[in-house]
Amino acid sequence: MAKYKLEYIWLDGYEPVPNLRGKTQIKEFDAFPKLEQLPLWNFDGSSTRQAEGRSSDCVLKPVAIYPDSTRKNGALVMCEVMMPDGKTPHPTNARATILDDPGAWFGFEQEYFLYEDGVPLGFPKGGGFPYPQGEYYTGVGYKNVGDVAREIVEEHLDLCLDAGINHEGINAEVAKGQWEFQIFGKGSKNAADQVWVARYLLMRLCEKYQVDIVWHCKPLGKDVDWNGSGMHSNFSTTHLREVGGKEYFEALMAAFDKYKNEHIAVYGPDNHLRLTGLHETQSIDKFNYGVANRGASIRVPHSFVNNDYKGYLEDRRPNSQADPYKIASRILQTIATVPTK
Ligand code: ADP
Ligand code: MN
Ligand code: MN
Ligand code: MN
Repeated sequence: MAKYKLEYIWLDGYEPVPNLRGKTQIKEFDAFPKLEQLPLWNFDGSSTRQAEGRSSDCVLKPVAIYPDSTRKNGALVMCEVMMPDGKTPHPTNARATILDDPGAWFGFEQEYFLYEDGVPLGFPKGGGFPYPQGEYYTGVGYKNVGDVAREIVEEHLDLCLDAGINHEGINAEVAKGQWEFQIFGKGSKNAADQVWVARYLLMRLCEKYQVDIVWHCKPLGKDVDWNGSGMHSNFSTTHLREVGGKEYFEALMAAFDKYKNEHIAVYGPDNHLRLTGLHETQSIDKFNYGVANRGASIRVPHSFVNNDYKGYLEDRRPNSQADPYKIASRILQTIATVPTK
């Protein structure tokens, strides 16, 4: 038997963007525990905007477990928040009610800024700006990435891989202090759980660097020539991968056009600051698609067209602060309106 440190992680009740919360409990197991072995637990919902003080208990229901290589016998336990009966999903628990389909694959490109002393890492501390954008994206060298960002990003990558998270890659982004990681998963819950745990690991890692992660989609504002942060959402279904076809694709894009407002509603707050039509984005009130077009709402990879309209598509509108549970579910909801014959 060994004592395991189980970090129960959940999303709180803050609006419009929930915070990640976590607390540890110690339990003994013969070997690294399976999800079914993990007990329900509770927390004080009155401190997380999830309950009133008089009846404050909320319940944590484990839904996924990952090894935590930073701790001896450590595990990260993603949880859903339930009502005190342990069975009814709490109103803040989006995961419980989203659409899921193991044949739906998602690749999320999470962009974010590293911030130190209130400015992006590498910006002058006394105000002002570093060199204009241009060489930072996928850049190398101290003048482009500084001396600590890469250490953070590499360490985060290893933590995710140790946890079994399907991290697919990393790159320095267009703005100084801005980075991206990509996570791929099959099924909306599975893919989105991994994004939330990867976000948690990044925030926790940065504590020791005295660096914060700014997830906001346009932290420097819309009036300066500095990119915002997105979470491009690449998706495919079994039908899109195996059958596809131009006719189906066009019907699908018509449905995405029809529901554009419903998509924007769950694609993250303040997206009007980011989706301006500049900086590789489409305007928030327009929908379009285009082959290899990084100014489109949906980018169609060359490979998709060359392969008889089969493969995956990239919705470029979701922003860095959006909830991947809601993004994936909305995409599946729109896809479900289009007959596959
Ligand atoms: P870019 O920066 O050029 O837009 P990235 O390489 O950052 O592209 O991200 C592309 C993403 O597409 C990857 O995260 C990958 O997991 C995802 N992806 C690739 N194939 C599929 C697929 N069949 N279904 C869903 N997502 C996919
Ligand atoms: Mn990318
Ligand atoms: Mn990017
Ligand atoms: Mn992209």
